[in-house]
Amino acid sequence: MMYDLIIIGAGPAGLSAAVYAKRAGLKAVTLDSSPMCGGQILNTYEVDNYLGFKGISGMDLGIKFKVHADALGCQFITATATKVNKTDNGFSVETDKETIESKAVIFAMGADHSKLGVPGEDDLSGMGVSYCATCDGAFFRSKDVAVVGGGDVAVEDAIFLSRGCNKVYLIHRRDELRAAKILQNQLLSIPNVTMVYDSVIKSIEGNDQVENIKVLNVKDNTESEIKVDGVFIAVGLKPNSEIIKDLVDFDEKGFIISDEDCQTKTPGLFVAGDLRTKRLRQVVTAVSDGANAVTSVEDYFNRQKA
Ligand code: NAP
Repeated sequence: MMYDLIIIGAGPAGLSAAVYAKRAGLKAVTLDSSPMCGGQILNTYEVDNYLGFKGISGMDLGIKFKVHADALGCQFITATATKVNKTDNGFSVETDKETIESKAVIFAMGADHSKLGVPGEDDLSGMGVSYCATCDGAFFRSKDVAVVGGGDVAVEDAIFLSRGCNKVYLIHRRDELRAAKILQNQLLSIPNVTMVYDSVIKSIEGNDQVENIKVLNVKDNTESEIKVDGVFIAVGLKPNSEIIKDLVDFDEKGFIISDEDCQTKTPGLFVAGDLRTKRLRQVVTAVSDGANAVTSVEDYFNRQKA
């Protein structure tokens, strides 16, 4: 079957695009690897800046988005897209189950956690090394942990972990946090959080479980050891752009180059949410992208008809 539109990824951007596409009367389908949908916010403890939903859990907000899309009758396929090709009539999207075709595609695959790339990180992953405080934090109740990074996620993770852990070290490579001021102020008032500025982790050590980390102070070049049971790594995002090669342009970090109109360099291919170059990666901007991308798809179809 030939669809008008295939949306790849069902996080906030993809689900918003699905709703707008349905309301625009497009024959659209949304692909996601998980039947749950929702993307990264499912792992977010609390979303406090999405208008109208103060303090909602990421899981609850993700479920609300999906329920809204389902109520409108949006079509979903649980499958992992593996490749996108240009065809004579539009595009084909290869998945781990089948190949489907459409006149236009919106990429909304989002981004994943970056790694530190230090010794011990891979070996002890799942054995004290984690990339998701809300998923794994409960295993570290009353224990000492380190969080690495200085962005919103690291600071939110440290705040979240401080509620159950004995001690939380926040290790940041500079002496200034990148996170929103409101989060910084909240973090700095928590007594069991210790800030370790100007420092990077050199190695994560332990036998079957994280036991300690070696930390280098990059200002005075001194090395120290901190005993921790867990290390939560929150050093930014890696875009999920592997399935697309030459049909779009990428910036130096691998994000797909596009503007507010969500168009890529190939007519008929659009990108929405965390995957595209943008100033602010948040739920509200992802949702807004989904709407803009579908409007651009409609403009594209109208131009083709004219
Ligand atoms: P981010 O904002 O890119 O921050 C990454 C942090 O990790 C930075 O502090 C960076 O240091 C540090 N870092 C990067 N590579 C490192 C390395 N190799 N070693 C040590 N430190 C390293 O990423 P994020 O916190 O994951 O957030 C991702 C996006 O989601 C952001 O746009 C964020 O605003 C958004 N977000 C928003 C909310 C919210 O609004 N509530 C919640 C979560 C996430 P430097 O500062 O020195 O570069």
